Amino acid sequence: MGRYFQISIRKFLSIYGIKKTSKLCFNNYVIYLYNYRMITFFKKTIQLALLIWFYNIPLAAEAGILNVGFDIDDTVLFSRDVFLNIPANKRNPIDYGWVNKQDERMSIFIEPTVELINYFINNGHNIYFITARSGENGKFLAKFLTKNFNIKITKNKNLFFCPKKMINGKRFTTKHLTMEKLNLDLFYGDADSDMIAALKAGVRPVRIVRHDKSVNQYGKNYFGNTLDGKSKENPFATEDLKIFYSKSVGIFGESIYPIIWNGPEQ
Ligand SMILES: [Mg+2]
Repeated sequence: MGRYFQISIRKFLSIYGIKKTSKLCFNNYVIYLYNYRMITFFKKTIQLALLIWFYNIPLAAEAGILNVGFDIDDTVLFSRDVFLNIPANKRNPIDYGWVNKQDERMSIFIEPTVELINYFINNGHNIYFITARSGENGKFLAKFLTKNFNIKITKNKNLFFCPKKMINGKRFTTKHLTMEKLNLDLFYGDADSDMIAALKAGVRPVRIVRHDKSVNQYGKNYFGNTLDGKSKENPFATEDLKIFYSKSVGIFGESIYPIIWNGPEQ
């Protein structure tokens, strides 16, 4: 701005001569000084605002506190018996209003995951649960989880129900939308869709190895369906799965969490 007025003054001087333009020069000089001071003032104000903003970033981001997400079925809970016992008239589609009330009776906690969650809680990190179940009677699941952990678990606060969405005949996860809102750092899950959701949300995915006794029920969606043999959609067999385990990496590049759990008694 200042340079613009200097150039203007020179231009007028060269065209009209010094005498004719002395008044104009004076006026321009006053405007130049005024603008220079205003620009300096605004520049300093902006610099100060940026400085305050910059030093407040670490406080806003809660430096060092992780936001950690966990899937529910086959990650936190061994809930096979709930799903095996769904009454025929509540199976198609699955009545989650019924399912969400049965965990207290039929689900058991997967101990290594519980220990991991308590580790995060006891060190001051934030824990969230995200399940693909739908949310009817979700408060019963929240109550069951609360009993086991040292934090209160509440539907839509730290327990989220995110059913899959059907697109062109295939079911896709919607968990990533919640992961983004929660600004998660890590997500632990057993299913391929958990890994996909984490990747979509830019969250680090970690695979909890699903227990053998659950695979018959949930063969699908686990490194593809390893029980399906060698189909186009599910090219990985159980032997392939073991190779992944031995290298501690999954097909989406996720880490494999090495839990050792004896599983259910039966
Ligand atoms: Mg699961």
